[in-house]
Amino acid sequence: MKKKLRFNSSVIHGGQSPDPAFGAVMPPIYQTSTYAQKSPGDHKGYEYSRTHNPTRTALEKSLAEIEQGNFGFAFSSGLSAIDAVMKLFNPGDEIISTNDLYGGSYRLFDKIFKNLGLKFHFVDMKNAENIFDLVNEKTKLIWIESPTNPMMNIVDIKSVVSYARDREILVAVDNTFSSPFLQQPLVLGADIVMHSATKYLSGHSDVILGALVVNDSDLSEKLAFIQNASGAVPGPMDSYLTLRGIKTLHVRMQRHCENAKGIAEFLSSHSAIKRVYWPGFKSHPNHEIAKSQMKDFGAMISFIPKDSSYKTALKIIKKLKIFTLAESLGGVESLVGHPASMTHASIPKKDREISGVIDSLIRFSVGIEDIEDLIEDIDQALK
Ligand SMILES: *Cc1c(COP(=O)(O)O)cnc(C)c1O
Repeated sequence: MKKKLRFNSSVIHGGQSPDPAFGAVMPPIYQTSTYAQKSPGDHKGYEYSRTHNPTRTALEKSLAEIEQGNFGFAFSSGLSAIDAVMKLFNPGDEIISTNDLYGGSYRLFDKIFKNLGLKFHFVDMKNAENIFDLVNEKTKLIWIESPTNPMMNIVDIKSVVSYARDREILVAVDNTFSSPFLQQPLVLGADIVMHSATKYLSGHSDVILGALVVNDSDLSEKLAFIQNASGAVPGPMDSYLTLRGIKTLHVRMQRHCENAKGIAEFLSSHSAIKRVYWPGFKSHPNHEIAKSQMKDFGAMISFIPKDSSYKTALKIIKKLKIFTLAESLGGVESLVGHPASMTHASIPKKDREISGVIDSLIRFSVGIEDIEDLIEDIDQALK
């Protein structure tokens, strides 16, 4: 067996080897739907690109390596990866998830899979005990996000796993906000790790792609079946772009986190700011858990201005110049978002406000520009 690589090497070499045809160091973009067969069934392992494509295979191997899992799967979006997980279950099965879930995940659960007979519970997971109260014999999955979007709550993955294991409940972690550089849920004992690779993994805001990584071979067979049967696969070009992004994940994440720390501290000491949500603060309720399960605190920050009004929030957002107002996160450029009207618009106002997503909340995805430029931009916007 090949020597196990450390993380910074695995993002570059994990699961990768030069292409057998001409030795290309980067996997070629195999822009093909089908593959020649010598006689029926006599082929080189590839028959049809919904089932397998060599560029996608290269990405799937890389995904597995960087999450320290055995099997990686690439999907056409983060949501189609989540969709595939939900298809593991049957009507009547129950799933417990967080109450400040990514809006698109909530919509998929509440508007599609609920109608197909799955029952969802949305609960405040800051305290893992809240989850355990909802478990019964029908509970099949606990769906975690940590840190959560956009309130930056931290869920204690190890406690949830140790509780779920004895009861044969699967634990899945949406690891989009952390990336495997900061947090590796499978190592913490989770069964499934999911990514919107659209964000940090691809890292350049130029692709929509999703990922799942698992260790268990039965689970892997089921997911491979669903991936092929439902067919929500990424094309070879997008697979290539994501693989290219992954190769710099470690250096990007270091700078993302460094910049975010500077900005979180700047915001928290600014007189025009009421509250800053970032797990790196000692005062964050689950700071110690974040410290134990993450390598650093990530580059997503939410905050509310002092007067906590929608008007002031809007003014700040409009005055920012380097921070671009846009959906999404995790790219090299800094973005600003207004969760209540953008990412979380699909969650009823009453529900989102319970979890803190009020109309004055602003969210930053901190990029890797010069920190001085970012702080100057924020400073002028707050004046
Ligand atoms: C963006 C996002 C998703 C959905 O991924 P897509 O690639 O947009 O389909 C899921 N979870 C989180 C935390 C996200 O940020």
